[in-house]
Amino acid sequence: MSIDKFEAKTKDVGGIPVARLLPQPKRRTIGAWCFLDHAGPSEFDEDSLGLQVGLHPHCNLQTFTWMLEGEVWHQDSLGYRQLIKPRQVNLMTAGTGNQRGISHTEQTPEGVHDLHAVQLWIALPMNKEIEPNFEHYPELPEWTESGIDYILTTGSYLGHKAPTTQFSELVGVDMQFKQAQVFSIEKQPHFEYGILVLKGELTVNGIKYCADELAVLSDCANATGELDLFATEGTHLMLLGGEPLPHPTVIWWNFVADTAENLVKAVEDWNNGHARFGDINLDGTILTRLRAPEVPSKFLK
Ligand code: MN
Repeated sequence: MSIDKFEAKTKDVGGIPVARLLPQPKRRTIGAWCFLDHAGPSEFDEDSLGLQVGLHPHCNLQTFTWMLEGEVWHQDSLGYRQLIKPRQVNLMTAGTGNQRGISHTEQTPEGVHDLHAVQLWIALPMNKEIEPNFEHYPELPEWTESGIDYILTTGSYLGHKAPTTQFSELVGVDMQFKQAQVFSIEKQPHFEYGILVLKGELTVNGIKYCADELAVLSDCANATGELDLFATEGTHLMLLGGEPLPHPTVIWWNFVADTAENLVKAVEDWNNGHARFGDINLDGTILTRLRAPEVPSKFLK
């Protein structure tokens, strides 16, 4: 097993500063998890509109929102409009291939002045025919064990199972520590894992990780050496794991594909208003339709 430490880059998403942990130049994915933003915790000014993300498309991925504080309206081209609240997951499936896609908006509701969320993408297995969909999970398995409060957002963990739809094997576990303690994680030998610190301090084999730092555990089947884990009181972690996909994934803007040519096609289709991404009527809203930037030439070797 190898352990690598990654720090976040700060980005602006719809007016909110976020800590981006994936993708990294030296680490693209953890299993099929291919994008990881930690947004907030943020308090908005009274006159701020909070998060306002205009209409944008996705393909060959699922957006996975794990809400911790605040609320966000989701609206998509399939006709779903869903408010997400703390301890809930929104899962939007863009579908696979060159003929499928989805588009959506995200907005802080009027009167809401905070936001804390983990925003993830899951790359879809592009060797499967997967249709676009949207699912909302208002209740997830929650339990307390050995001083740790767990919420299982997807997959199976310590005998619990989340209802969340999966197209490749994944796990996502929210963990909060009531006291300082050593602990262990349940590992599958064919998974890769990441542990993101949302708050507090984690120690992995003597190396400290603070908020917005990510420990990535790979080659887990080769279990040489111990994994010593320690968290301080009040620490809040997100454990992510998954089985690597059988094909490469490339990411540009809001698109995932298996080849750069398919990224170029997605950019052209969206900017030309192709029906694969659907539409939402933005009349009477402050939102705009976002234009996709051209795929950089470095992708097209
Ligand atoms: Mn999106």
